[in-house]
Amino acid sequence: MIYLDIDNTVFNSIDKFIEIICKENDVKPNGKWEDVTAYNFAPVINGLTETKILDVFDHPDFYSTMHYMPGAKKAVTNLIDEYPDDVCFTTMGSNKNIVNKLNLIQETFPGCPMIVLTNIHNKRMLHQHNSIYVDDHPKNLIGAEIPVLYEHGIKKEWNKEWTDDVFKSWSDIETFIHNRLTFM
Ligand SMILES: [Mg+2]
Repeated sequence: MIYLDIDNTVFNSIDKFIEIICKENDVKPNGKWEDVTAYNFAPVINGLTETKILDVFDHPDFYSTMHYMPGAKKAVTNLIDEYPDDVCFTTMGSNKNIVNKLNLIQETFPGCPMIVLTNIHNKRMLHQHNSIYVDDHPKNLIGAEIPVLYEHGIKKEWNKEWTDDVFKSWSDIETFIHNRLTFM
Protein backbone atom coordinates (compact mmCIF):
# COMPACT_ATOMS: atom_id res chain seq x y z
CA MET A 1 0.00 0.00 0.00
CA ILE A 2 0.96 3.61 -0.51
CA TYR A 3 -0.25 5.80 2.36
CA LEU A 4 -0.40 9.54 1.68
CA ASP A 5 -0.70 12.21 4.36
CA ILE A 6 -3.04 15.08 3.44
CA ASP A 7 -2.10 18.29 5.32
CA ASN A 8 1.09 19.91 4.06
CA THR A 9 1.86 16.80 2.00
CA VAL A 10 -0.78 16.59 -0.73
CA PHE A 11 -2.67 19.82 0.05
CA ASN A 12 -1.26 23.17 1.07
CA SER A 13 -2.73 23.54 4.55
CA ILE A 14 -0.17 26.17 5.60
CA ASP A 15 -1.26 28.49 2.82
CA LYS A 16 -4.92 28.02 3.77
CA PHE A 17 -4.21 28.45 7.48
CA ILE A 18 -2.51 31.81 6.90
CA GLU A 19 -5.33 32.98 4.64
CA ILE A 20 -8.03 32.18 7.22
CA ILE A 21 -6.26 33.47 10.31
CA CYS A 22 -5.33 36.77 8.64
CA LYS A 23 -8.86 37.29 7.34
CA GLU A 24 -10.50 36.48 10.68
CA ASN A 25 -8.16 38.66 12.72
CA ASP A 26 -7.54 41.40 10.15
CA VAL A 27 -3.76 41.00 10.37
CA LYS A 28 -1.01 40.74 7.76
CA PRO A 29 1.37 37.76 7.60
CA ASN A 30 5.12 38.30 8.15
CA GLY A 31 5.95 36.50 4.94
CA LYS A 32 4.69 33.84 2.57
CA TRP A 33 3.57 30.28 3.34
CA GLU A 34 6.96 28.99 2.17
CA ASP A 35 8.61 30.96 5.01
CA VAL A 36 6.88 28.96 7.78
CA THR A 37 9.46 26.81 9.57
CA ALA A 38 7.65 25.80 12.78
CA TYR A 39 4.52 23.80 13.45
CA ASN A 40 2.97 26.86 15.16
CA PHE A 41 3.34 28.81 11.86
CA ALA A 42 6.19 31.00 13.12
CA PRO A 43 7.72 33.23 11.92
CA VAL A 44 4.92 34.09 9.46
CA ILE A 45 2.24 34.15 12.18
CA ASN A 46 3.41 34.55 15.79
CA GLY A 47 1.82 34.04 19.20
CA LEU A 48 -0.63 31.28 18.29
CA THR A 49 -1.87 28.92 20.98
CA GLU A 50 -2.55 25.24 20.32
CA THR A 51 -6.28 25.86 20.83
CA LYS A 52 -6.32 28.66 18.26
CA ILE A 53 -4.47 26.52 15.75
CA LEU A 54 -6.95 23.66 16.13
CA ASP A 55 -9.87 26.11 15.82
CA VAL A 56 -8.57 27.26 12.44
CA PHE A 57 -8.19 23.66 11.25
CA ASP A 58 -11.87 23.18 12.19
CA HIS A 59 -13.01 26.25 10.21
CA PRO A 60 -15.78 25.27 7.76
CA ASP A 61 -13.89 26.93 4.88
CA PHE A 62 -10.56 25.29 5.65
CA TYR A 63 -10.82 22.56 3.02
CA SER A 64 -12.74 24.54 0.42
CA THR A 65 -10.68 25.76 -2.56
CA MET A 66 -7.51 24.14 -1.25
CA HIS A 67 -4.31 24.48 -3.23
CA TYR A 68 -2.15 21.43 -3.84
CA MET A 69 1.46 21.29 -2.73
CA PRO A 70 3.64 21.92 -5.82
CA GLY A 71 3.44 18.98 -8.21
CA ALA A 72 1.20 16.94 -5.89
CA LYS A 73 -1.91 16.88 -8.07
CA LYS A 74 -0.11 15.36 -11.06
CA ALA A 75 1.96 12.90 -9.02
CA VAL A 76 -0.96 11.64 -6.92
CA THR A 77 -3.16 11.30 -10.02
CA ASN A 78 -0.41 9.29 -11.72
CA LEU A 79 0.02 7.04 -8.68
CA ILE A 80 -3.73 6.36 -8.45
CA ASP A 81 -3.81 5.59 -12.20
CA GLU A 82 -0.86 3.24 -11.91
CA TYR A 83 -1.76 1.57 -8.58
CA PRO A 84 -5.56 2.01 -8.34
CA ASP A 85 -6.02 -0.47 -5.48
CA ASP A 86 -2.96 0.54 -3.51
CA VAL A 87 -3.27 4.26 -2.73
CA CYS A 88 -4.85 5.40 0.52
CA PHE A 89 -4.97 8.77 2.25
CA THR A 90 -4.28 8.92 5.96
CA THR A 91 -5.05 11.79 8.25
CA MET A 92 -5.62 12.90 11.81
CA GLY A 93 -7.91 15.59 13.16
CA SER A 94 -10.99 16.51 15.15
CA ASN A 95 -14.39 15.28 13.98
CA LYS A 96 -15.14 18.61 12.25
CA ASN A 97 -11.77 18.65 10.57
CA ILE A 98 -12.09 15.06 9.37
CA VAL A 99 -15.59 15.53 7.93
CA ASN A 100 -14.45 18.54 5.90
CA LYS A 101 -11.31 16.75 4.77
CA LEU A 102 -13.29 13.69 3.72
CA ASN A 103 -15.44 15.90 1.49
CA LEU A 104 -12.30 17.36 -0.09
CA ILE A 105 -10.86 13.91 -0.87
CA GLN A 106 -14.17 12.64 -2.24
CA GLU A 107 -14.32 15.64 -4.59
CA THR A 108 -10.69 15.63 -5.69
CA PHE A 109 -9.84 11.91 -5.76
CA PRO A 110 -13.24 10.15 -5.86
CA GLY A 111 -13.15 6.50 -4.86
CA CYS A 112 -9.78 6.72 -3.18
CA PRO A 113 -9.94 5.41 0.41
CA MET A 114 -9.00 7.51 3.42
CA ILE A 115 -8.12 6.27 6.91
CA VAL A 116 -8.91 8.79 9.63
CA LEU A 117 -7.51 8.90 13.15
CA THR A 118 -8.39 11.31 15.92
CA ASN A 119 -5.76 13.62 17.37
CA ILE A 120 -5.12 11.28 20.31
CA HIS A 121 -4.00 8.47 18.00
CA ASN A 122 -0.75 7.94 16.20
CA LYS A 123 -0.28 7.04 12.55
CA ARG A 124 2.41 4.58 13.49
CA MET A 125 -0.35 2.08 14.29
CA LEU A 126 -0.94 1.86 10.52
CA HIS A 127 2.56 0.70 9.68
CA GLN A 128 2.66 -2.53 7.65
CA HIS A 129 5.27 -4.64 5.94
CA ASN A 130 5.99 -3.59 2.33
CA SER A 131 4.04 -0.33 2.60
CA ILE A 132 5.16 3.17 1.72
CA TYR A 133 4.29 6.16 3.91
CA VAL A 134 4.50 9.71 2.57
CA ASP A 135 4.27 12.38 5.26
CA ASP A 136 5.73 15.77 6.17
CA HIS A 137 6.10 14.91 9.86
CA PRO A 138 8.65 12.39 11.19
CA LYS A 139 6.44 11.42 14.13
CA ASN A 140 4.24 9.57 11.63
CA LEU A 141 7.16 7.85 9.92
CA ILE A 142 9.41 6.64 12.73
CA GLY A 143 9.61 2.87 12.49
CA ALA A 144 8.03 2.64 9.03
CA GLU A 145 9.72 0.15 6.72
CA ILE A 146 9.61 2.54 3.75
CA PRO A 147 9.27 6.15 4.97
CA VAL A 148 9.12 9.10 2.57
CA LEU A 149 9.61 12.39 4.37
CA TYR A 150 8.41 15.27 2.21
CA GLU A 151 9.80 18.74 2.80
CA HIS A 152 8.96 21.62 0.51
CA GLY A 153 11.35 24.57 0.46
CA ILE A 154 13.46 25.65 3.43
CA LYS A 155 14.43 23.44 6.38
CA LYS A 156 11.60 22.88 8.84
CA GLU A 157 11.94 22.91 12.62
CA TRP A 158 9.71 19.88 13.03
CA ASN A 159 11.88 17.49 11.03
CA LYS A 160 15.40 18.68 11.85
CA GLU A 161 16.16 15.46 13.78
CA TRP A 162 15.26 13.28 10.78
CA THR A 163 18.36 11.46 9.52
CA ASP A 164 16.86 9.36 6.71
CA ASP A 165 16.24 10.62 3.16
CA VAL A 166 14.26 13.83 2.61
CA PHE A 167 12.24 14.23 -0.58
CA LYS A 168 12.06 17.80 -1.82
CA SER A 169 9.59 17.35 -4.68
CA TRP A 170 6.59 15.28 -5.65
CA SER A 171 8.26 14.18 -8.86
CA ASP A 172 11.07 12.66 -6.76
CA ILE A 173 8.46 10.93 -4.58
CA GLU A 174 6.65 9.55 -7.62
CA THR A 175 9.89 8.21 -9.11
CA PHE A 176 10.93 6.63 -5.80
CA ILE A 177 7.56 4.89 -5.33
CA HIS A 178 7.54 3.66 -8.91
CA ASN A 179 11.04 2.19 -8.54
CA ARG A 180 10.29 0.59 -5.17
CA LEU A 181 7.10 -1.06 -6.39
CA THR A 182 8.65 -2.19 -9.66
CA PHE A 183 11.46 -4.06 -7.91
CA MET A 184 9.58 -5.18 -4.78
MG1 LIG B 1 0.95 16.57 7.36
